[in-house]
Amino acid sequence: MKKLLLHVCCAPDATTAYLRLKEKFDVDFYFYNPNVHPREEYEKRLDATRKLAKVWNVKLIEGLYEPEKYFQAVKGHEHLGEMSYRCFLCIRQRLFKVAEVAQELGYEYFSTSLPTSPKKDFEMVVKAGKEAQERFGVKFYIEDFKKSGGYPLSVKLSKELNLYRQNYCGCIFSFREAIEQREKSKKERMEKIQRILKENDISIELDVDPEEFLITHNLLNNIGFDILQKLIPLIRPRTLVVERSIYEKYWPERKNARFGKFKVKIKVLEQISL
Ligand code: SF4
Repeated sequence: MKKLLLHVCCAPDATTAYLRLKEKFDVDFYFYNPNVHPREEYEKRLDATRKLAKVWNVKLIEGLYEPEKYFQAVKGHEHLGEMSYRCFLCIRQRLFKVAEVAQELGYEYFSTSLPTSPKKDFEMVVKAGKEAQERFGVKFYIEDFKKSGGYPLSVKLSKELNLYRQNYCGCIFSFREAIEQREKSKKERMEKIQRILKENDISIELDVDPEEFLITHNLLNNIGFDILQKLIPLIRPRTLVVERSIYEKYWPERKNARFGKFKVKIKVLEQISL
């Protein structure tokens, strides 16, 4: 089989990419992500990649952490958002390094796990990869790994293997953008909750993004299940805590409750005493 060096942007994305590529190539991992900020976050992503490489018995080559290379690459374009030209420059910088290492170590092909993420523009990755291929003379092989269920598969596998999953793309700018986005979403959801409560003449204190949200008979009597169904996807708790009798009525034998697209874990208590 032909040898391919796979750039691992993060372990969850590498799961699907590796499973697809190993059918055609002899694959080794290469972790090179100088874009990731801060260093602790970089270490978490690298540790998850080490874990995946160990569990699946794949050779892992660890690149250097050299954030200055990222900042040089995106200079003058830092203010642009995610999926912008800034991201093209960031991806190109990484793929140039991957192609360079692939050439030095005698790989015939190189690739990247980046397309597993729905937040990456596939054409952007293709363009950057082709430029790297041109520059270093190593063949770039790529597939849109997110397609045909590739992204949900990566989510499932990373849960099963207990791999760390990040909640922002990587650079300091995407870190700040993610915080801003979360704050905006919180504000908008809070406004919608207030509107629903007002329209239905309900007087109750609610907060967004709590760890747990308690559903008692008292609460159900006060607001009704229909309104609750509208509120839960806006509140977005991590866990729904419900009394057994409520659980048996609405979600018998389920581990999770669904409210439209929002899915939440259920914890059942025999009786909730307040
Ligand atoms: S948002 Fe992601 S792809 Fe874009 S510059 Fe930042 S780390 Fe790179």
